[in-house]
Amino acid sequence: MTFQNPLRLNRRSLLAGAGGLSLAAVSRTAGPAAAAPERPGQATLLRGAALVLTMDPRIGEGDLGLLKDADVLLQHGRIAKVGRKLEAPRGARVRDVSGRFVLPGFVDIHNHLWQSSIRGGCSDQDLVGWLKSCNLSTLPKIDPAGMYAFVRLAALDALQAGVTTLVDWVHAMPYASSERYVQALDDAGLRFVYAMASAKGAEDQVRTVKERLLDPLPLASAQVAVHARRGSIDSLRASWKQAEDLGLMLNSHVLEHRTDRDEEQIAALREVGAFGPALLMNHAVHLSREEIALVGDHDVRVAHCPLSNMRLASGVMPLPQLHKAGVKMGLGHDGGTNDTSDMFALMKAAVGLQRAVHEDPQIQPTLPAVLRMGTLGGAEAIGMADQVGSLTPGKRADVLVLDPGTLNFAPRFDWTSQIVLNGQPPNVTDVYVDGRLRKSGGALVGVDTEKVVLAAERAAARLTSAP
Ligand SMILES: [Zn+2]
Repeated sequence: MTFQNPLRLNRRSLLAGAGGLSLAAVSRTAGPAAAAPERPGQATLLRGAALVLTMDPRIGEGDLGLLKDADVLLQHGRIAKVGRKLEAPRGARVRDVSGRFVLPGFVDIHNHLWQSSIRGGCSDQDLVGWLKSCNLSTLPKIDPAGMYAFVRLAALDALQAGVTTLVDWVHAMPYASSERYVQALDDAGLRFVYAMASAKGAEDQVRTVKERLLDPLPLASAQVAVHARRGSIDSLRASWKQAEDLGLMLNSHVLEHRTDRDEEQIAALREVGAFGPALLMNHAVHLSREEIALVGDHDVRVAHCPLSNMRLASGVMPLPQLHKAGVKMGLGHDGGTNDTSDMFALMKAAVGLQRAVHEDPQIQPTLPAVLRMGTLGGAEAIGMADQVGSLTPGKRADVLVLDPGTLNFAPRFDWTSQIVLNGQPPNVTDVYVDGRLRKSGGALVGVDTEKVVLAAERAAARLTSAP
């Protein structure tokens, strides 16, 4: 079945620069015609994309592996082929994506989705004030049903913005709430890494949640979450041992706020033996020159959360120095402290912060570098680059279709820069996760967003009325 784009001829000639009519004049809000329900196992051929960003230099031009006027074939949940004039396998759904871009789904490597419950809250506080007045005071009040409502809202928001893989650092919570948390992530249909912190005396819950709730889900995986500090080094040692025993990464906030220095976090992580490629450090804003060299030498991974760091007045991460040290880095939204799931805004902030500080328009991250951080770089940082992050044949089919023919994006000048500088979540018209269409023609598939919002509002009202 072919879904014809009624504007195909117009758009092609316009994008080639032949038309006098502005794209905005013919722009639509929806993407390719909303698709009919998929048949299980059906292949999809995305035909005639104006630009494919494969993120694989072996497939296309430059570091981003660019291909113009190309097709992408998704089959059995994987990227099967990328190239020009691909033949549609028998029974495949063919979708006309002429005039559009195809790229890998975004990878958000640091989030706390439950914090959609405190969006916009404590907006005049730094990390310490925000933790005290908004974060830690709210979490215990959320019941399991509320947890489902908040996580579902935020997970769907991430998905509609083009996030297809998301790492959630989940605070210690009762098993019943974890159960609903995982359910909400799974129901949303994105690929997720559930990084679990455990309460004192409830450390076994990590293994239980992994084995009972996560292992049966094909899109789920686990990490062990901690907040490293010398003051609780025995518990840090136990968490690292648990991560090693279960074959998982350790995920810790490190040197986010200036006062974190007092906790001797890096020394503690080194002392227990966790300081290596199985460690993901979030923020890493206040690293010394020596610590940057150590992070590079030990192949420790880093999540950069520029919007959160700006909002909480935390500081500016030494990204150019970490880049020079060869550190694998990705981007993270960091839950309620950035108040958005907009990966375009996140990329733009990562670029803008360093340019403003260094007064250098060529400082890292460059625009291509930040696009890589938001996709393949993030996947590398969490050890999933063999599965996601690029449109390399064989990888899982996590794919975005992006429409540049909108008021905020057109006209064509420098397309790859425009993705970072002009892109917005509504430009993401279609999202595939594991080959399944989750957003189609600008709308989430099978989701009643009004109901999702209403459930979150009801849960928020219960929080306000709680003692
Ligand atoms: Zn965080």
